[in-house]
Amino acid sequence: MRESRYGRLPFSMRLVGLPLCLAFLSSSLWGQATQPRRAHAAPQQSPVRASRRNVILITLDTTRADRMGFLGSQRNLTPHLDQLAKQGVVFSRAYSHVPLTTASHATILTGTYPQFNQVVDFGIRLSPRLPYLPDVLHHHGYRTAAFVASLVLDPLDGTAPGFDRGFDVYDAGFRLRPGGMDRYKSVERRGGEVVERAITALKKRPPDPFFLWVHLYDAHDPYDPPEPYKTKYAAQPYDGEIAYADDCVGRLLAALRSQGLYDGALIAVMADHGESLGEHGENTHGVFLYDETIHVPLLLKLPGNRAAGKQVDTRVGLVDVAPTILRAIGLAVPAEMQGESLLRMIPARSATHPGEQDRPAYAETQYPHRAFGWSSLRALREGKYLYVRAPQAELYDQGTDPKAEHNLASTSKAVSETLAAQLEDFRSKTSQTMVNLAKPDPEQVQKLQALGYVASDTSNPTGAATDAGPDPKSKIEVSNFLHDALLDVEDARYQEAVPLLQSALKDQPDMAIALMQLGIAQAGLKNYAQALEPLQKAVKLLPDSGMGHYQLGLALFETGDWKSAAPEFEAAVARAPRWADAHFSLASVYARIDRVPEAMTELDTTLSLSANHYRANLLRGRILSLQGNPVDALPNLKKAAQVQPDSREAHAFLADAYSQLGRRLDAERERGEAERLRPPSHAGPK
Ligand SMILES: [Zn+2]
Repeated sequence: MRESRYGRLPFSMRLVGLPLCLAFLSSSLWGQATQPRRAHAAPQQSPVRASRRNVILITLDTTRADRMGFLGSQRNLTPHLDQLAKQGVVFSRAYSHVPLTTASHATILTGTYPQFNQVVDFGIRLSPRLPYLPDVLHHHGYRTAAFVASLVLDPLDGTAPGFDRGFDVYDAGFRLRPGGMDRYKSVERRGGEVVERAITALKKRPPDPFFLWVHLYDAHDPYDPPEPYKTKYAAQPYDGEIAYADDCVGRLLAALRSQGLYDGALIAVMADHGESLGEHGENTHGVFLYDETIHVPLLLKLPGNRAAGKQVDTRVGLVDVAPTILRAIGLAVPAEMQGESLLRMIPARSATHPGEQDRPAYAETQYPHRAFGWSSLRALREGKYLYVRAPQAELYDQGTDPKAEHNLASTSKAVSETLAAQLEDFRSKTSQTMVNLAKPDPEQVQKLQALGYVASDTSNPTGAATDAGPDPKSKIEVSNFLHDALLDVEDARYQEAVPLLQSALKDQPDMAIALMQLGIAQAGLKNYAQALEPLQKAVKLLPDSGMGHYQLGLALFETGDWKSAAPEFEAAVARAPRWADAHFSLASVYARIDRVPEAMTELDTTLSLSANHYRANLLRGRILSLQGNPVDALPNLKKAAQVQPDSREAHAFLADAYSQLGRRLDAERERGEAERLRPPSHAGPK
């Protein structure tokens, strides 16, 4: 029966006519008794019922199913989740549809496949026309709050534009990590802090009903759990992260219990994808579609702990989560959602559902194509088989070969061909064909390119061209090199990154991301002349990348070639007009080549984007002071000294400005402060 297998087909085009209700992060606080926005409620929706159940969604990033005690792991990493599982329903065969954080969360929250929602990579805007669980709940009077742990789920400053639709509160606020900065204060947050923020919000006791989404990123590499997990799991730091995340979940559940919110709530827990940990040669996730990254934990504690202790062994997908949540609280499932409610699978009597019907599970990844220029992959799990569509197709009998080690594609040609046809049939029936539905808007593309996230093809999110290129199986080592090199560059271990990048480039000399990173690493080592060649090549390959032009500009600047640096920074700000650092760099190069009025314009832009930009305040104040305008210089210089109180330059420049104004005492105080901050003369430069 095709209908129940593949969800509601064919997909109605009705959603084209829905009002565009792109919501922005609401300034209203979660705890405030403001009216929920329901202006765009669809007419067929039922009126708000005060008795609606609270919904808590917990997504565990990068968490393998085989580490969960409630799925049979003997590692004893997850006591709190195991306890929750006893009061809920466990889905033993749940599958992700895409092994990437942003894309998989789009599937969870929209109830649609990647080929439909088109969020197939980081940074693609989630279309306001898609059904979206938080928005549906908000329309039904729910207070909605998200507490996420990573830049990759940040709608405003990260790679998840559009994810804040329907949320009253979306707690993100991540930023790119300046060299040497603590990663847990910039690009991600530890689970303990995320949960603490969520608990603080819960203590304000939002009026029922509420929807709370908590995302824990800890198990994502680098594996670096806090103590005591760091010591206890020194040999298996990934397991240490899982144990730590479980402890964080335990804290959240305890807070719910202590407020009497636990029993009545619907609590859904799942991973967005797993982690390869070296299986099939892949270290992390994103490239392959084997069980290590696609089989995920999924459990559901129903209101009143209904069906506690039951297990469903039918194959299910993360696409089914949103429809299941909506059905469980008595709301209609939007027709465009492609998953289906799993409630009907929960066995009435016996503890385990026999799995009466085979439900195929689809997965895909365009990451190999978009990041490296290799072929994208698609997979179908059906019956006992796992079929992977790749330049060299793969077929595994998961009954006898659960680790997918024996490729039967060439010996079982008929099975392979049947599954290949079914996969393509499924994909075409579930794909989105509406024009421009989720095309990223130009500003987001520019911003994300500036951040370096979208390394290649951004204009063609779907389509046949993604099948071109080498088979990822033959290249997986290169992706591991690159992954390690990216982390090395991020952690300023440039010396270690350079050989990894060089070996990746030996294999594939035109890999833009490797060229770019090599240039950044060489610049980090102050080998500016050696940084120029790879950066110039990267810019040629990625002419639309703001980051490429910016990095090339920096290297040229450092070699003293200011005249050549200026057009690169100009290109960077043209491509990423809201990037404060790029405007500042352009301003400082203009200031050096006697284009002072233009420098001032760029400084104004920098400060309009980032009012506390230390270097922009310092430079603007200094220029004004040198121009004989100490009155206007003072606010900038004061701000610079306030943002960086240990800046000797800020205090020295302030002293000069005060002297110009005849404010002797202020000048003396600032000069004294500058003297105090002057490094001892015998100490060499550090
Ligand atoms: Zn993830």
